[in-house]
Amino acid sequence: MDYVSTRNSSNTFKFRDVFIKGLADDGGLFIPKSLHKFNQNDLTEFKNLDYKELAKKIIYPFIGDFMNKNDLSKIVDKSYSAFRKKNVVDLVKVGDRSVLELFHGPTLAFKDVAMQLLGNFYEYYLNNENKKINIVVATSGDTGAAAIDAIKGKKNINIFVLHPNNRISSVQRKLMTTGKEKNVFNIAVDGSFDDCQNLVKAMFIDKTFANEIKMSGVNSINWARIIAQSVYYFYSYFLIEDNNKPINFSVPTGNFGDVYAGYLAKKIGLPINKFVVATNQNDILHRAIMNGSYNVESVLETISPSMDIQIASNFERLIFDLNDHSDKKTIDVMKKIKEKGKYQIQKESLDKINVDFLSSRMDENEILDTIKAVYEQFDKVLDPHSAIGYGAFDKVNLKGNNIVLATAHPCKFPSAIEKAINIKTELPDELLFILDEKENYDIIDNDLNKIKQYIQEKI
Ligand SMILES: *Cc1c(COP(=O)(O)O)cnc(C)c1O
Repeated sequence: MDYVSTRNSSNTFKFRDVFIKGLADDGGLFIPKSLHKFNQNDLTEFKNLDYKELAKKIIYPFIGDFMNKNDLSKIVDKSYSAFRKKNVVDLVKVGDRSVLELFHGPTLAFKDVAMQLLGNFYEYYLNNENKKINIVVATSGDTGAAAIDAIKGKKNINIFVLHPNNRISSVQRKLMTTGKEKNVFNIAVDGSFDDCQNLVKAMFIDKTFANEIKMSGVNSINWARIIAQSVYYFYSYFLIEDNNKPINFSVPTGNFGDVYAGYLAKKIGLPINKFVVATNQNDILHRAIMNGSYNVESVLETISPSMDIQIASNFERLIFDLNDHSDKKTIDVMKKIKEKGKYQIQKESLDKINVDFLSSRMDENEILDTIKAVYEQFDKVLDPHSAIGYGAFDKVNLKGNNIVLATAHPCKFPSAIEKAINIKTELPDELLFILDEKENYDIIDNDLNKIKQYIQEKI
């Protein structure tokens, strides 16, 4: 499969570059030049597969020139053996909708599903190439822990994680900072997640620096993450497929990565009806999808910190699609967003968006009320992010089979849960030790040069 950048569609790349670079040199995002489509026979075959076998079928066409089927098979089996569910995810009925629990991996959020695979992709790449790599990644709380768990202790690779100081839950922080492996470095940046993300982007764009430290990225723009995440849309779809009723997904959204993975599943043949882009008060995507105004505002801190984002990086992939894969038009739009913080989506494009996407927004009280209502009616505890996804179906009118993505385990957000239903959530037994463990992280100003210097000193 050939890939191009959203900002230059004449140069092509192979999956290996797409994976290792993360972001294209021109600042654009990688995207397949053209997509294969699974047909009805494929889908019928897929329906009977367990999660791991299904993952192999869906991922292979995207990466066939990086590794053969046999190697992919071993890596998928190894990656998903770290999960507490045999089939990686779990689909449970909660009231009139189904909840797709994606948090049964080592760090209790859906990010593990892609990241465990990526960790083993890196190992495979480094074994074959005899190279060293430094991963630098920004996290709104969950990506960092998932990436650290996937990379810790691996040879020839270090990981530097930037999180917004004091803006993630303490369980989220402890899942990142209590490891003892020497190849893991945690940086608490005095700033927001968007600041962290901008710092990482700036380091990538500084080619001298990026080449010097052999930098690689695992942020949600990494295409490898998107393809790994598209698998659970297929898997859950087949679990409830009912030929007469449309299937809709509600996706708690920050960087537009997870919901884009669903959209990709649709584009390669899974007949999903609609996606609901569910946001918290940081509702730039809701405003964009409702009335076309993609206007960046300042980030508000909420009880769903993994979605406290105003610059939804993966949205550029949708912008590229809406502009008929024109790199020129995409560059123009991205420039406007960067310079003015504003982009008015034209009516025609908005109509196209609305074929696939609806949206909703929840404020803090609505999230707490949803957690409470779901607990009282169905004896089920949802974390604040998953509650945003659950409640979204009450705000939009979609008939059919409605699936909510539950993106994190409630125990990652104990104070929000306590506030909503006065219950103390517990970590799974095997993770309880992190609560008393010594933490390792360094607090650094929101200053590009200081962060670069820190990384250079550590490697
Ligand atoms: C990262 C994250 C999200 C948002 O996912 P995106 O791919 O950034 O849209 C939602 N919920 C949780 C718990 C997360 O960790």
